[in-house]
Amino acid sequence: MKPAAQFPAADARRLAGVLFDLDDTVLDRGRLSQSALAALYGLAESGLLLVGVTGRPAGWGQVLVRQWPVAGMVTENGIIALVQRQHRVHLLDRLSHGEREQRRAQLLALVAELRERFVELEPSDDIAGRFSDYSFDIAESRQVDAAVVRAASDFARERGARVVRSSIHLHISYDADDKASGVLRFLHGEHGIDPSAARHGFAFVGDSENDAPCFGAFEHTFGVANLRGRPSLLPRYIASEPMGKGFAEIAAVLLAARR
Ligand SMILES: [Mg+2]
Repeated sequence: MKPAAQFPAADARRLAGVLFDLDDTVLDRGRLSQSALAALYGLAESGLLLVGVTGRPAGWGQVLVRQWPVAGMVTENGIIALVQRQHRVHLLDRLSHGEREQRRAQLLALVAELRERFVELEPSDDIAGRFSDYSFDIAESRQVDAAVVRAASDFARERGARVVRSSIHLHISYDADDKASGVLRFLHGEHGIDPSAARHGFAFVGDSENDAPCFGAFEHTFGVANLRGRPSLLPRYIASEPMGKGFAEIAAVLLAARR
């Protein structure tokens, strides 16, 4: 990983957009700082297409796509995307409404089993806005022992579910998408950008395990400083500052080159 300041100016000028994780990347333990918000506006004003790519619920995406200077929000770790067209927010799901309902029932049956076996697991406080996944709070308002998280993850995988970890949550779903497949589908479907052009033309900024597919898929990848200490995560560039300050630092590097 090289320092973010060494990102080549020529690459910054060629970028079509910036994709970013929310928690502990743009947000500081859930809070949006003034500098991170200013960084988002600066990037959008320099002509970059912005898309948030998060494990947070589709219900959050419905709000943020209205309020933030973004072209869309890819939520629930790639499964559900939100876009605003003519002042209306549209929810984009691969499944029909009926198929989603059926899959949800299957997911809730697994969740009931998990909660019976692993009593330490508590739902996160944002499950009401979720359509495709269920999330447990493992490090947001409480700390769940790593051995319990591992055992519960193995149990869910044995039942055919997909398990994804963020810095704060353990997500369970029956959908195969990840952040990379979800955002590539969004860019193709909404903006006609084919996946190989997107891989070379967009930068991704993240901090955590659920960002690994994007660190692998995109050519221009950045981590914020709090990513350090996770040897499996290797963005090509890293900010010296953590979370929102790190995001603002990366944005400043890109904007200085694009001015
Ligand atoms: Mg994160």
